[in-house]
Amino acid sequence: MKNNPATRIQELKQFGEYGDVNPSITDSATYTFLAAKTMTDTFNGESQGCFLYSRHWNPSNKYLADALAAMEGTESAWVTASGMSAITNTIMQLCNSGDHIITSIITYGGTFAFLKNYLPKFNIDVTFVDIEDLYSVEKAIRPNTKLIYTETMTNPMLQISDIPSLSELCKKNNIKLVVDNTFTPMIVSPYLLGADIVVYSLTKFVNGTNDCVAGAICSDASFINALSDVNSGTSMLLGPVLDPMRSASILKNMHTLHIRMKQHSANALFIANKLKEANLPVTYAGLPEHPRHELLKEMMNKNYGFGGIISIDMKTVEKANKFMELMQNEGVGYLAVSLGYFKTLFSNSGKSTSSEVPDEIQKKIGMSPGLVRFSVGLDDDIQNTLDKIFSCISKVE
Ligand code: PLP
Repeated sequence: MKNNPATRIQELKQFGEYGDVNPSITDSATYTFLAAKTMTDTFNGESQGCFLYSRHWNPSNKYLADALAAMEGTESAWVTASGMSAITNTIMQLCNSGDHIITSIITYGGTFAFLKNYLPKFNIDVTFVDIEDLYSVEKAIRPNTKLIYTETMTNPMLQISDIPSLSELCKKNNIKLVVDNTFTPMIVSPYLLGADIVVYSLTKFVNGTNDCVAGAICSDASFINALSDVNSGTSMLLGPVLDPMRSASILKNMHTLHIRMKQHSANALFIANKLKEANLPVTYAGLPEHPRHELLKEMMNKNYGFGGIISIDMKTVEKANKFMELMQNEGVGYLAVSLGYFKTLFSNSGKSTSSEVPDEIQKKIGMSPGLVRFSVGLDDDIQNTLDKIFSCISKVE
């Protein structure tokens, strides 16, 4: 595939019905048909270019989906009302009762909870593995394994999944590889590296303004069409549709995503390097010391950097809490969950976005009780931000 993700989006010719440079917003739940037969054909999936009902497809959602498909290099995409609905719809579409899933033990806490606590209701078995240990992934494969699930950069431990190797394993065993690329849009293109389906929480970097919750599924046309099938499509039948007003605003924000990713990455690298030089326990995939730094370098698209997420281990919950409160008071950013916002956000993972992961598993996977995850913002004067972070650290110790 030629061009980079940003250029693929830029080259789309999407405009409104009056030549508007931003595509028109379709503010309708339903659509008229001039002939009754066209309605019947549309319900049967036999007519092109017709919209029947906005839970099925909405033109504004289609514009956003087309931009996401261009970014990922997939044939098609589907947008959803949240990242969780993208994840759950994908899994429910691929699996039936009696099937088996292999997942990275480290994922976003909501994903972990869905896999661990919710899927057993449907008699779907899940094996949790260290996704960086390909031997244990292969060993976990069973005849009824339907999919391997992982995150490109795992939340919050910042491991890096070896997508080409996982893809090879999946292809050999006729298993689908599903990758959540929420932390690394533009930076990594999992589908082009061999993943079958890429899911997103658009809530984060892709939208970037923290004004809505949204998600996306990018894949082959056959999978996306299956999701929206009126008789059996998980998305059509469970109905987590994104509001078209929101898709229109997310689409506009997507056109600056490449610039934002570069700035998030540059700021995060600056902070990570300075914390490292001060011998502080920082984790960032852009540091050569990160165990999968070279792998990420091999997989990544050039020029977007290593992403905006870093973590600092403050060792205890008490120290982490004091540090975060000080940073909020000093104006480093907000003590808030989520990521990919233009301002810096920080939270103690074990007590927030990974609180669904039981303490004993947190311990097993090496998640320190004092782990503070940072989503580094777009700050112009990053030295000023760094000075404040150092000042807060000195007040904690
Ligand atoms: N995937 C990752 C990696 C996340 O961090 C999150 C939320 O924090 C989600 C998925 C869920 O997305 P949403 O909150 O949009 O449902």
